[in-house]
Amino acid sequence: MEGCITVESELSRIISKFETQKKINERNVDESIQILENAKAELLARSPMDTDEPVRATPNTAFIRQATKNAKDVAGKVSTSHRELHAGVSRLGKVIDKNFTADFNAINCPEALLGKEKLDHLSQAIVEYLFRQGLLDVGNKLLEEAHMQMDETKARPFVELNAILVSLSEHNVAPALQWTMEHREQLEQRHSVLEYKLHRLQFIELIRRFPHDPRAILEYSRHFQRFRCNDQIKDVQRLMGSLLFLNQGLEKSPYRDLISQDLWLDVSETFTKEACALLGLSMESPLTVCVKMGCRAIPMLLGIRHAMLNHQVGDILNNSRQELPIEVDVVPDYLYHSRFTCPILRQQSSEKNPPMRLNCGHVISKDALMRLSNSTKSTKIKCPYCPSEQSATDAKRIHL
Ligand SMILES: [Zn+2]
Repeated sequence: MEGCITVESELSRIISKFETQKKINERNVDESIQILENAKAELLARSPMDTDEPVRATPNTAFIRQATKNAKDVAGKVSTSHRELHAGVSRLGKVIDKNFTADFNAINCPEALLGKEKLDHLSQAIVEYLFRQGLLDVGNKLLEEAHMQMDETKARPFVELNAILVSLSEHNVAPALQWTMEHREQLEQRHSVLEYKLHRLQFIELIRRFPHDPRAILEYSRHFQRFRCNDQIKDVQRLMGSLLFLNQGLEKSPYRDLISQDLWLDVSETFTKEACALLGLSMESPLTVCVKMGCRAIPMLLGIRHAMLNHQVGDILNNSRQELPIEVDVVPDYLYHSRFTCPILRQQSSEKNPPMRLNCGHVISKDALMRLSNSTKSTKIKCPYCPSEQSATDAKRIHL
């Protein structure tokens, strides 16, 4: 972030310098053109119009010489200012290089993408992202080139979802309303406000587009009868209040917030959230989440690598690439499942090393359990946290 601010301030400096120079140059060039035009007029006035006409007078050579000198001076000034600006632009490049890391090889992990299975997962994530963006033909082309197939039923929800979002961006709530009717029961179970928000927008659209037809607007307000939540009732009262300004238009009324573009963005977001929840999808595509989390993690990883190299323990980072050497600060929206870190071995649990529950209720990793079991001569192991004893085979795997 600091890097962005530094680069931005350098950029603003160059832009403001550029604008000042532009104004000065334009003024100088205009003046110079005017002087040259005058010189031209002077030459024409004092030259014979055709060969038969006698020479009228000697042109004012001093004036013309002065005009030429002025033009040369202006051209020189423009060229100098261009050189100065160019120096600023190249300095900006250096500031970008200095403030942003371009070399990520140190934390690169090529083995993460080795093998067809892993590459297929990556292609699938990219295709899903493209489908979510409505770029079906691009997604299908990628599937074809990656020699992959995606179930038609998997792609269909994205097509529908995207078509509705496009309609909403065009201020057309009809397809979204149709969708809410079809899923009303599930939406009500989720206490969704989507249907209310859509009717509200449609009502405002009618006010905006057909102010001369109050009967149709009042007729539409019947849709609000089924919304009985306190907040919605108050909001409907306000909507009805806005009808007082039908003739003069909402733009000049105390209800001008009702025609804000933000309401359309908000309803698109609510629709995406509800549709994804009903389809069992996350609101953002896995690829988007990975990129966002990567942007959070990379500065931390570069920082820790720098610190480890300074203490000559950089090799640890290379040897433990399967596991991050530090905890990455995850925003709550991106926490999808619980994690378990073994209190004995301080390792995060994995498919090969899952958490195991002992009879007393304490949980340790499978590796820790095996070590305990191997280190004791008896058939029983003792819990590392309490006096209870049990057979290692009685420990139960915990699925998180
Ligand atoms: Zn115990």
